[in-house]
Amino acid sequence: VLPDANTGATPALLASLRAAFTGRLIDDPTEAAPYFRDWRGKWTGAGIGVAQPDTAEDVARVVAWCARHGVAVVPQGGNTGLSGGGVPERDGLNLVLSTGRLNKVRQIDNINNVIVVEAGVTLQQVQEHAEAAGRLFPLSLAAQGTCTIGGNLATNAGGVQVLRYGNIRDLCLGLEVVTASGQVWDGLRALRKDNTGYDLRDVFIGSEGTLGVITAAVLKLFPMPSVRVVAFAAVPSPAAATRLLQLAQKELGAHLTAFELLSETCLSLVLRHIPSSRRPLGDASAWYVLLEASAESEATPIADVVTSMLGTALEQEMVSDAAVSSSLSQFRDLWALRENISEAQAAEGRTIKHDVSLPITAIAEFIETTAAELVARFPGVRLVVFGHLGDGNLHYNLSPGPSPDVAQTREFELLEAPVNRLVHDAVVARGGSISAEHGLGVLRRDEAARYKTPVEIQLMRALKHAFDPMGTMNPAKVLAS
Ligand SMILES: Cc1cc2nc3c(=O)[nH]c(=O)nc-3n(C[C@H](O)[C@H](O)[C@H](O)COP(=O)(O)OP(=O)(O)OC[C@H]3O[C@@H](n4cnc5c(N)ncnc54)[C@H](O)[C@@H]3O)c2cc1C
Repeated sequence: VLPDANTGATPALLASLRAAFTGRLIDDPTEAAPYFRDWRGKWTGAGIGVAQPDTAEDVARVVAWCARHGVAVVPQGGNTGLSGGGVPERDGLNLVLSTGRLNKVRQIDNINNVIVVEAGVTLQQVQEHAEAAGRLFPLSLAAQGTCTIGGNLATNAGGVQVLRYGNIRDLCLGLEVVTASGQVWDGLRALRKDNTGYDLRDVFIGSEGTLGVITAAVLKLFPMPSVRVVAFAAVPSPAAATRLLQLAQKELGAHLTAFELLSETCLSLVLRHIPSSRRPLGDASAWYVLLEASAESEATPIADVVTSMLGTALEQEMVSDAAVSSSLSQFRDLWALRENISEAQAAEGRTIKHDVSLPITAIAEFIETTAAELVARFPGVRLVVFGHLGDGNLHYNLSPGPSPDVAQTREFELLEAPVNRLVHDAVVARGGSISAEHGLGVLRRDEAARYKTPVEIQLMRALKHAFDPMGTMNPAKVLAS
């Protein structure tokens, strides 16, 4: 039988795969198509099908079959990734390994404060299970209804509470992983201390499916906060926002849960495109800070501490106006102004996005110098700058300007490469990273290779070869083949 023109699948190959494991195989092209492209339609690949194994042992059978037949394994969770890591390549023999049926919560332990979940459980389901047990699982991001714990771990996801709780690397105690040759590594240890040699868990976290398939994880749980307050403050500049961060850390200590920066351009996009959003302060300001503080005990007067801290900030001219939430609906409305920026920006047409991190001391100068350079070189573009200032992470985005200088489509697209070069050069020159929380996938793979030192690339290649000598685990992601 001749192979299919797009996928390389033959009936004999598919029959052999179907017989190799007990889960579900999707080989109908229409049903499989959504797994071969990302949710924005930015990348489209091809594959012989989609395997949905039921257990870690079943994953191992699929991966071992792929190793025997020279078929590339592309792990995929919720397919919400922003760097194209979960999409197969167009060429070669590829199989998407979807974790959708690895969906069990195996254990919750309220004394050791851990939850053990399979890789295909969504982030929101983990949060809900933790809450039902009176605990908090603090990872939180806008895709949480769809993204999976396996995908979160594979991309070392961050989100809005990293300042207080860390990213998922800090929230994970143990992993179960299927290796590239199809063996199950049981590293599901619920230990906070374990110095027994190289940390394999940390190698798999953030490896974007290129070293093995994560099938389950032990995650940390925390006491559920009983008081949460959000403040929205107008600040004159990113430098003032950085000073406010210092003050908030001093006054609030571990109660400071999130510290986000956004510009007036971001806020006005949200007000224009998101129904029912309202300007939170009387006058517009060039920049705003949204900060959240939380406490486990209602005895902690957290709202009073925030209000008094903002009073000091007003006196010292770090802040010109501020609002503090006094109800759950106000809390949600203020957070929605920050969370809806991406959606509002998408409604304005094409975007050029960067997910960068910098030492916090360098951020204010980076924002101002880089903005001046971009506007001088690419007249008419609009900067849509926001992010997790408390973590030194900026979403440093551009939209076409409302003026006709930069057209909505082709002309703006052509700017992407020179804009990326300018922004990433500026980030790296200040000791920053070109991918803070979205990984490399295919989007930033070559860009990362450009900025990493030869020693770092050599070590990464050695690691890849040690874990995946045949090169069948998610090829061409993170490192070029
Ligand atoms: C609206 C929106 C907001 C977002 N906000 C944030 C944010 O604030 N912070 C943030 O960090 N990210 C954010 N993201 C990015 C994305 O949600 C995260 O990268 C998420 O962790 C991906 O999970 P997923 O299950 O969808 O993974 P997928 O998209 O399916 O896969 C992502 C990568 O992980 C690999 N992978 C998936 N599952 C496994 C597994 N079990 N074993 C091994 N490899 C695997 C894939 O091969 C791929 O390389 C956002 C995305 C959207 C759409």
